[in-house]
Amino acid sequence: MQRLSQLGRSATLVATLGLAAVAAVQLETTAGAALGGSGAPRRIFVDAGHGGTDPGAIGNGIVEKELNLEVALRLRDLLEADTEDTSGGGEWEVMMTRTTDASVPLSSRTNAANNWPADRFVSIHHNAFGSSIASGTETFSFANGTAGADLRDRLQEELLSAMGLVDRGPKTANFFVLRETLMPAALTEAGFLSNPGDAAALSAPGAVEALALAHLFGIQRHYGIPPHIPVDGPSTYCFPKTASAGCVPSIEAAGTPSVSQSDFVVACDQVLSQQFGMLFWGRQGLELPLLGGFLCVGGPLMRTPVQFSNGLGPGNCSGRLELQMDSGFLSANGMLPGDEIFCQWWYRDPGLLPATPVGLSDGLRFTVLP
Ligand SMILES: [Zn+2]
Repeated sequence: MQRLSQLGRSATLVATLGLAAVAAVQLETTAGAALGGSGAPRRIFVDAGHGGTDPGAIGNGIVEKELNLEVALRLRDLLEADTEDTSGGGEWEVMMTRTTDASVPLSSRTNAANNWPADRFVSIHHNAFGSSIASGTETFSFANGTAGADLRDRLQEELLSAMGLVDRGPKTANFFVLRETLMPAALTEAGFLSNPGDAAALSAPGAVEALALAHLFGIQRHYGIPPHIPVDGPSTYCFPKTASAGCVPSIEAAGTPSVSQSDFVVACDQVLSQQFGMLFWGRQGLELPLLGGFLCVGGPLMRTPVQFSNGLGPGNCSGRLELQMDSGFLSANGMLPGDEIFCQWWYRDPGLLPATPVGLSDGLRFTVLP
C-alpha cells in the first residue's frame, strides 16, 4: 500500500493589515511544510487585479475584477494541491492580495509582497480597449533580461497554449506592481474583455480552470519544473497529537473513495493497545476535545467509530488494521459524490488508565468521487 499521508501541511492563516483610510486588507497565506530534503517552499504572491470599488475592465458581460479573482483563487488551490501532491510539481507557499471582492490599494499589494517577503509576484489581469478590435494575450515584466522576464515569458507561453488567442508578445511596462515589488514579478493579460472573440473564450466553461492551470504551469516551468497537474489525493488536515511508548500513530489510504468503486482502503499502523478506533466524519467543523486529545473536526458530525481488539496487547506498536470503505459503506453513511470524508484514528493504553493520554493519528481528508 502506498504511503499517501503526511504529504504536507496546509495550514491557512488569515492575517489582517490595518490600513489608514481604507478597509482592512485580508491576506491569506497558505504555508506548505517543507518536505524532507527538498528545501524551503517557494513563496508565490498571487495578486488578483482590481477589486471592490475598482472593477477594472468591463466588456461583453465580464467584469475584470471578478474573473481575476476566480483565476487567482483557483491558482492558489492548484498551488496548494501541487504542494501536497508528491508525484510531481513543486512546493509552494501562497499569499493573496485578496480572496474576496475587496478594494486594495496598489501600495498595499506591493508592501505585503515585500514584507512577507515573496519569492515571486504574479498579478492576474484582463484587458480592455476602446475599440473591440484589439485582441490577444500579453504578459508584462518591468524589464527584459531578468528573472521577472523569464517568469513573464513562461506565463505568456502557457496562456497562449491554453487559450489559443492572438500572441501580442511579452512586454515591459512601468506598472506600479512591477516597479515597486522587490522580487521578480509578472503581470498577465490573458485576453481582451472588449473583444467578442476573446470574451467568449474567457467566459467559456472551463476557462477559469485553463487560465489557472496556465499560470501554474508557467510558474512551475519558470522554476525548471515540468508542467504538472496536481493529483487529487488525501490532504492532511491535522497531525498526531500524542504518541506513547515511542509509537507514532499513522494512517494511510489507497484506492479511490467512490460511491461506485470499492477499492478504497484506510489503514492504521503503529496501533497501540486494545482501545482504539477509526473515526470518520462527514463535514468539517471545529476542534472537539476527546479525553485529553483533540480531534481536528467536530460539531454535529456523523462519527463512525470502528472498534477492533483483535489480540493486540498493551504496548504493541506494530499492530495494523485496515478498513475497506466500499461503495456500500459510503452509501450506508450517506456519502455522495463531492462529499468530504475526514478520517483519523485514536488509541489509548488501558494499562495506563485513568491518566493515559489519547493518541491521535494524522487526519486525512478525502473527496468522494462518483
Ligand atoms: Zn486590470
